[in-house]
Amino acid sequence: MHSAPGYRIASFLVFILLSPAVFAASFIVPSDRDLIHRTGAIVIATPLASYTQINDEGGIETVTPLRIEEVLKGAGLPATLTVVEPGGEYDGRATVIPGVPRFNTSERTLLFLVRTGKDRWAVTELALGKFTFHGDDLLRDTSDITGWEPDLTPHVERARNAARFLSFIRIESSGGSAKDDYFAPNTASTRERPKVTTSFQPIPTIAPFTATSYTMFISGTRGGRWAAFPVTFFSGTTQEPGAPGGGSTAITTAFNSWNNDCLSNVNYVYSGTDNGTHTQGLHASDGANTILFERDLSSFGVSPFTCSANGYSGTLGIGGITLASGTNTLGSETFATTQEGDVEMNRGIANCSLLFNNGDWNSALTHEVGHTLGLRHSDQTRDSSAACTSDPSLECSQQAIMKSFISTGLNAALQVYDQHAVQAVYPGNVCAPGPPACTAPSITSQPQSVTVPAGTGATLSVGATGTSLTYQWFVGSSGVTSNPISGATGPSVTVAPSTTTTYWVRVSNSCGTANSASATVTVTPAQPVVGASFFLLTPCRILDTRGGTPVPANGVLNFVMVGKCGVATGATAAAVNVTAVAPSVDGLVTIYPGPANTARPVASTINYRAGRTLANNARVTIGTDGSINIFNAGGSPLSFLIDVSGYFK
Ligand SMILES: [Zn+2]
Repeated sequence: MHSAPGYRIASFLVFILLSPAVFAASFIVPSDRDLIHRTGAIVIATPLASYTQINDEGGIETVTPLRIEEVLKGAGLPATLTVVEPGGEYDGRATVIPGVPRFNTSERTLLFLVRTGKDRWAVTELALGKFTFHGDDLLRDTSDITGWEPDLTPHVERARNAARFLSFIRIESSGGSAKDDYFAPNTASTRERPKVTTSFQPIPTIAPFTATSYTMFISGTRGGRWAAFPVTFFSGTTQEPGAPGGGSTAITTAFNSWNNDCLSNVNYVYSGTDNGTHTQGLHASDGANTILFERDLSSFGVSPFTCSANGYSGTLGIGGITLASGTNTLGSETFATTQEGDVEMNRGIANCSLLFNNGDWNSALTHEVGHTLGLRHSDQTRDSSAACTSDPSLECSQQAIMKSFISTGLNAALQVYDQHAVQAVYPGNVCAPGPPACTAPSITSQPQSVTVPAGTGATLSVGATGTSLTYQWFVGSSGVTSNPISGATGPSVTVAPSTTTTYWVRVSNSCGTANSASATVTVTPAQPVVGASFFLLTPCRILDTRGGTPVPANGVLNFVMVGKCGVATGATAAAVNVTAVAPSVDGLVTIYPGPANTARPVASTINYRAGRTLANNARVTIGTDGSINIFNAGGSPLSFLIDVSGYFK
């Protein structure tokens, strides 16, 4: 094989001229007179055999020579013109771009053309500029282009009498003013569509349509589909000036619309601005899913979007699958596996405040993002070549985000058709991003301020709930992260400041952070031993936990020293011999002054080993309440002895 199999697909979204007078509610198809005057050439032509090629950007394009029968507008045209439209099949790859006109060989057509390069032409405003002869009539491919007339009645695309329409074009093109009396009679033979109403006809909840039926053609009749979620998108480095968040708000809104359909499993993730290396958009695959703003789409025959204070018109953007390879299955249906999806929004949209303010901008992004999911237009066949109303295998709707000419006023909200489509292609029961798999941190107990003598330390602890928590302690006031404590990454930290110091801890996980309150360790001067007198005692066993309460495992026993064995009230320290009796595990004991709530220092008084009775001499500081604290850092309750031989006072 010359290259790996791959497919491309894209789709166009067109916004049509909005009437300044009734912009809030109307949606107006440009008149034929407008179209005649804005187009470069109008011809009656017969397509010859098309062929495909790879353009300079690496994209597939279809080249169709036209044999010109008559030029109605445009001086000096040759007898043969070449129309180049994006998409096609080439060397095992395929691109299909809904909205782009397709030609059937020998089908006599009336074409409105715009020059896109040297010896290159494209159909004006996509499918709007192509009519096909059917008997006495001229019909658009998209015969149910829908909008509203200036009087707010629904617009209905109608057949035109060929002879009278051509006469109209000839007069208008030569500077005259003709009468638009060319519409065919309102009979069934004209293929006129039924009246469009704004009320949606409900479709059964379980639609009798295949998942494939909701997708665009991508490989033969096969549709494209992501095999797994989440799928991550980036925006380009060029923002949309004037749009909320520079365009990012619309991206988030669009993703939420698709993600939050709870009977499907779409999960698109917006990861912010790209590093600037993925700039191809729909022009070629570049390995990243991107949404790009203010893009030059002239090579597709699309002119810049135009905006004024009270109206806008043109093509808003294109979106689709830029690369697919391999297959995935859903039930008995097989899809080409989407590898890359992209959206390019047209240049000229910048500062289009009317568009940004009425929700249509959000709807446009949502529509194009829908194409990256592989979805077709709600009102057209899977290759966008015709209306879908006469194909019983397709659900067909005029009320949808995925309608080829988007309805105004939806503000990105999926309609019933859109829900059916996404639920059919991506069935599931996932309301992404919720229900959250991650519970954000929440602090249940704050670290407590303590007072400690100089030279000792304190252990600060925090209690917190949440999924997969991590901790980082800091020196300073809560929220100040400039001085993290190295290695202090657990729910507790032991500190031994030389002066009074404030600490706090940040508890984090993948879905959030929580800052603790500040806790201050107040350092008091050491107990003055200098100047104190030492009083010798007859050695006396002041504590023996055997037969009483042992020192609890990993816990503290508070014990009053004064008044026992001759230790006088006001004693500040004592000379002792401590014994750990036949411990069952390894551990250590720390003795420090009372009262019971005093912070524990770091130093140990005695280290003990399992099965060995060990003793050690020590001088212990007695708290102002006459007590000491005996902390057992061991996994088992400990029998403990203290013999006192003297005290300081
Ligand atoms: Zn579209």
